[in-house]
Amino acid sequence: MVWKKTIFILIDSFMPHVFEEAEAQQKVPALSFLKANGAYWNDCVTVFPTMSANIDASLMTGTYPDEHYVPGLVWYDRDKQRVVNYINGGKAVWRLGTRKCAQDVLVSLNEQHLSRDVKTIFEEAARHHRTSASLNFSIHRGPVRYSVQKPGLMKLALLGTKFDSVTGPELALQGRFFHSNGLRARFGQWNASVFKKYGINDSFVTDMAIRLVQEGRLPALTVAYMPDNDYTYHRHPDKGVDILARADRQIGRLLDAFGSWEEAVRQCRFIITGDHGQTKIGVEREALIAVLDSLIGMRASCPEKVNPEQDDLVICNNERMCFLYPLKEGVQEEVIKRLLGESRIDVLAWKEGAGVRVGRGERALFFTRGGQVRDVYGVRWTIDGDLTLLDGSLAEKEGKQIVHFGQYPDAFSRLYGALYARDGQVIAITAQPGAEFYTPSDPTHQGGASHGSLHHTDSLVPLIITGETKAAFAHPRLVDLKSYMLGCLHSEGY
Ligand SMILES: [Zn+2]
Repeated sequence: MVWKKTIFILIDSFMPHVFEEAEAQQKVPALSFLKANGAYWNDCVTVFPTMSANIDASLMTGTYPDEHYVPGLVWYDRDKQRVVNYINGGKAVWRLGTRKCAQDVLVSLNEQHLSRDVKTIFEEAARHHRTSASLNFSIHRGPVRYSVQKPGLMKLALLGTKFDSVTGPELALQGRFFHSNGLRARFGQWNASVFKKYGINDSFVTDMAIRLVQEGRLPALTVAYMPDNDYTYHRHPDKGVDILARADRQIGRLLDAFGSWEEAVRQCRFIITGDHGQTKIGVEREALIAVLDSLIGMRASCPEKVNPEQDDLVICNNERMCFLYPLKEGVQEEVIKRLLGESRIDVLAWKEGAGVRVGRGERALFFTRGGQVRDVYGVRWTIDGDLTLLDGSLAEKEGKQIVHFGQYPDAFSRLYGALYARDGQVIAITAQPGAEFYTPSDPTHQGGASHGSLHHTDSLVPLIITGETKAAFAHPRLVDLKSYMLGCLHSEGY
């Protein structure tokens, strides 16, 4: 195999059905070109919950949350007795104005929450003497230390706050919050201004990638994050094709920087994927599931101030899923009892023994690691109960029992990963298609779209790899891309 540099681009909320429709309308020439020059899968399975923070951690470490320890976008840290909220880098930079959020997003995610027992691809690349770049990727832990800046008006909003430094690969940047030498935004650069989220946007990232190409500084691996697609699709799901076309124009600009698109794929292996899908949310009142309505009489913590002495539970809203953390004895049983009857809840699951129990009405399913049944990824399980609760079925292949999933891809590993990301009791609930959870002070998307659930509408993303064949993955998953990319770094001929 001829060695090529790898450029990995994550388009937030990149969806197979939107991509295929955009292709049919000839609105995404760059993505179509890359697809035509390699392999394409329309069913790459993402991580649960289907939220960027924990998915990005899985992408960069090649592990599920039970190993990398980042449970979701919003979760409860039992040790520190506080709710962690990474917000969404591209979505709400304004909320970075609150000190805790900024600290969580910019520093704690990489330096404290992400397990030290797993290695990011940037750390592995450095160990093998390969250079790499992180362009606005939320998971960037690596060999080089960077100090965090407060750009523009943030200086005022965060007056008196001093951030710890963060680490990243040799080439790294996060908008105007930190950057390596030579990746500084130019003075007056519009797409790095306060009106463009200080550089947390597609056009800024593309400019920086182009700069690396033009200056001959493109490293062995470049990881770039494009947030705009997610941000706009949440509000305008009916305009998906046109929204994706904007991301395509940026990718086209990057390909142009090589002189021609053919030259781009000759020099580089492009890997383009998404982090999760989105599901349309109805306009009717029932589309919002007010969890608190089912828990009347119980005391849910205010996210800003958890009081384990007084409160019964903490609710962490991840759009189409919630984590519920019981704080007292007996609370878990009571919460489950009440939620089992809520018809708009799709999946209700919690830890039991060393495994996971799933319930709906009177039906129940238990599964645990190890045993005689395998899933299509070769992971072994012991199953007891009603497998149809996760739309699973058993088939025999060469004398072995194999479990297949329909509506909930890779259901066992993904549910297990989410529930065992942290110690202690936790219940995971997901919303039926068309619905999302409502908790005061969290954003809602009535008439728009959102994500978070285990359902395939949130869980399947496109995957394009240039210069590759379909034989590379029989059952593609995001969690397997790290080892694939490491293989690319080590290919013969380097
Ligand atoms: Zn989103």
